[in-house]
Amino acid sequence: MSSHTLLEELVEIARPFASYGKVANYIPALSDQNPDDLAICIYSIDNESFYAGDHLKKFTLQSISKVIALALVLMDNGEEEVFSKVGMEPTGDPFNSIAKLETHKPSKPLNPMINAGALAVTNMIKGNTGMDKWERLIEFISHLTGENVTYNEDVAYSELQTANLNRSLCYFMKQHGVITGNVEDLLVLYTKQCAVEMNCVDLAKIGAVFANDGWDAESGKQLISRDVARICKTFMVTCGMYNNSGEFAIKVGIPAKSGVSGGIMGSVPGRCGIGIFGPALDEVGNSLAGVKLLEGLSAKYSWSIF
Ligand code: GLN
Repeated sequence: MSSHTLLEELVEIARPFASYGKVANYIPALSDQNPDDLAICIYSIDNESFYAGDHLKKFTLQSISKVIALALVLMDNGEEEVFSKVGMEPTGDPFNSIAKLETHKPSKPLNPMINAGALAVTNMIKGNTGMDKWERLIEFISHLTGENVTYNEDVAYSELQTANLNRSLCYFMKQHGVITGNVEDLLVLYTKQCAVEMNCVDLAKIGAVFANDGWDAESGKQLISRDVARICKTFMVTCGMYNNSGEFAIKVGIPAKSGVSGGIMGSVPGRCGIGIFGPALDEVGNSLAGVKLLEGLSAKYSWSIF
């Protein structure tokens, strides 16, 4: 059976699980996504791609952008500075929780994959103006995909209007010196970052660069340093699937990062990147059918890193 046919079969086995999930609606513009969509691309580190489902359909990165921004910021500022503002430990709390910011000392976010930590990371993107920072980020993402990537203005605006929880995380962190500068400007940048739009082929391509220790075979360039790629993949294992990362590590065992749009980026070290889109989410915010699909795929190809 060809790889394409096998992928189509795995998609059809996973698709019914979407009916147990719900599309995110706390960002109003995400609520009109079709819960039955499911698409996947596998992109090998030497640029071969296989896909199934509607692989050209675009979606926004949401939390998947956290890994990419982290890679840029680590290369910009170095580990020492970045980890003086954000920790390295997983949390059992939801991604948007504020609780540990107050109870955990020192008063910095536990890790860069939760909203508080991601906001602190985005605050460290280098640039003189918000526009400079945005241009550096979108250029970096475009290099990773090899395409001219843009963002979805409606989704960014919709989130900016309703991001009061993220606003409060920012003000709390500003009071404690974790972030600096104007909070509204940071939220504009963060919501654009989350609204970066692509299809699952582009996403799989980024996953392949991480899988290949930062080396991009297509352009023949080291787009992310080896060390930074290693750190990012480690966070994907420990915190990438929110407060379900432990169960995911056991059942799938692939470094992965999900977003509330229903995207998942996977990175199988030394082999391939995986891009998935399936917007019906489970209760922690991971694509329900997407996780089922990864379970099937990991079992079939023995891709668990453990
Ligand atoms: N933009 C979203 C937020 O900040 C990203 C969250 C997510 O994908 N989990 O709420």
